[in-house]
Amino acid sequence: MSLVQQFHKAVLKTGSRTITAAAQKCWASSSPNGYNFELNDTQKEFQQLARKFAREEIIPVAAEHDRTGKYPTEIIKKAHSLGLMNGHIPEKLGGMGFGVFDGCLIAEELAYGCTGVMTAIEGSGLGQTPVLVAGTDEQKKKYLGRLLEEPLVAAYAVTEPGAGSDVNGVKTRAEKKGDEWILNGQKMWITNGGVANWYFVLARTNPDPKAPASKAFTGFIVEREWQGVTPGRKELNMGQRASDTRGITFEDVRIPKENVLIGEGAGFKIAMATFDTTRPPVGAGATGLAQRCLDEASKYAIERKAFGVPICQHQAVAFILADMAVGVETSRLAWMKAAWEVDHGIRNTLSASIAKCHAADVANKCATDAVQVFGGNGFNSDYPVEKLMRDAKIYQIYEGTSQIQRLIISRVIIDQAKQQA
Ligand SMILES: Cc1cc2nc3c(=O)[nH]c(=O)nc-3n(C[C@H](O)[C@H](O)[C@H](O)COP(=O)(O)OP(=O)(O)OC[C@H]3O[C@@H](n4cnc5c(N)ncnc54)[C@H](O)[C@@H]3O)c2cc1C
Repeated sequence: MSLVQQFHKAVLKTGSRTITAAAQKCWASSSPNGYNFELNDTQKEFQQLARKFAREEIIPVAAEHDRTGKYPTEIIKKAHSLGLMNGHIPEKLGGMGFGVFDGCLIAEELAYGCTGVMTAIEGSGLGQTPVLVAGTDEQKKKYLGRLLEEPLVAAYAVTEPGAGSDVNGVKTRAEKKGDEWILNGQKMWITNGGVANWYFVLARTNPDPKAPASKAFTGFIVEREWQGVTPGRKELNMGQRASDTRGITFEDVRIPKENVLIGEGAGFKIAMATFDTTRPPVGAGATGLAQRCLDEASKYAIERKAFGVPICQHQAVAFILADMAVGVETSRLAWMKAAWEVDHGIRNTLSASIAKCHAADVANKCATDAVQVFGGNGFNSDYPVEKLMRDAKIYQIYEGTSQIQRLIISRVIIDQAKQQA
């Protein structure tokens, strides 16, 4: 049994503050220096590569994608060729076998350039994660393998017009007929909805409305080109306009039984477990946006003069920058912890929600503050911060709203309090 496995066995309770002696021993021997804030050489290399890519390939075209809503096909092709996408695919399938932490480092840098582009890339990661966590070797080889071969993307199709936060309300139905499943229903707000090669789709397979969520839904891999799959129009969103968000209609789509993930009834658990892996990168993306706000505002504040001095010399402005820096730093530490935990086999539902929730709020605060520092110019699309403010908002909505994150966090805290009472 590996050290990580021993550790996992020893710390059985998610979010528990009690670490058993055995777990402490494992932890101490696997990480003799305790916390380590230094990146290894490969991480530094990929961080630098992603940083350079954001500055040279994304920032120069970001405003144009925002204005036109054009999907960033060329950027995705280049990112794919440089290994800035799909790093998480295991080495045995031809990928790089990166951890969630490594992916987050890249996500933060890409988001610094444009979170619309980052969401297009991360939306594919979101679609792939159910296959990574629950797929068979054949499913992984077939569906993740093709994403390595070509710059294709995947999508995660769970939300519907009538069910977002309340996943149990999903109405899309799949019925078993012989060796196939027949899928009917309507999904909404699907990132990469019109451009994905395949989707993870959550559908109700138990028609009994009283069936518990943990048994009522099944997860499927559905190909875009199959008959009966129809993406709707590209939605005109407030921000992150480079990203492709659409509704998708499924009409008598025939799914072979080989495309069921794990088995009938396992879908809800797969859909939820996915977030432990995908919320840290969303937090990292929000951190990238917040860092960009801080950099833009700092640069502006040392150049812009009011009352005869650069505005950064007015303490009220300098303190805005200081508060932004506090937010960026704590957001980064929060995603790092959540990513580190999942990479070490420690259940991170709590830290992933904290990271996502905190970074989303910080991104929105930093974006509003950056607009404030820019004054009238901040309100105008000739300057970069107006886009950042529009782009920031979605971080409080997708992958679980900020209210849902607080619900998850508060439940864990209340459970802990009850255990200690
Ligand atoms: C640009 C974009 C991209 C997206 N990408 C995807 C994707 O790729 N795949 C996918 O499946 N979905 C995607 N979504 C959907 C997204 O995850 C949902 O919009 C989100 O989960 C909220 O669901 P909803 O819109 O139905 O809002 P609702 O669930 O109707 O919520 C409305 C409001 O009520 C609050 N609320 C609801 N329930 C509670 C509660 N119990 N306690 C407190 N407050 C509550 C919410 O926080 C929110 O403020 C995307 C959405 C957008 C806008």
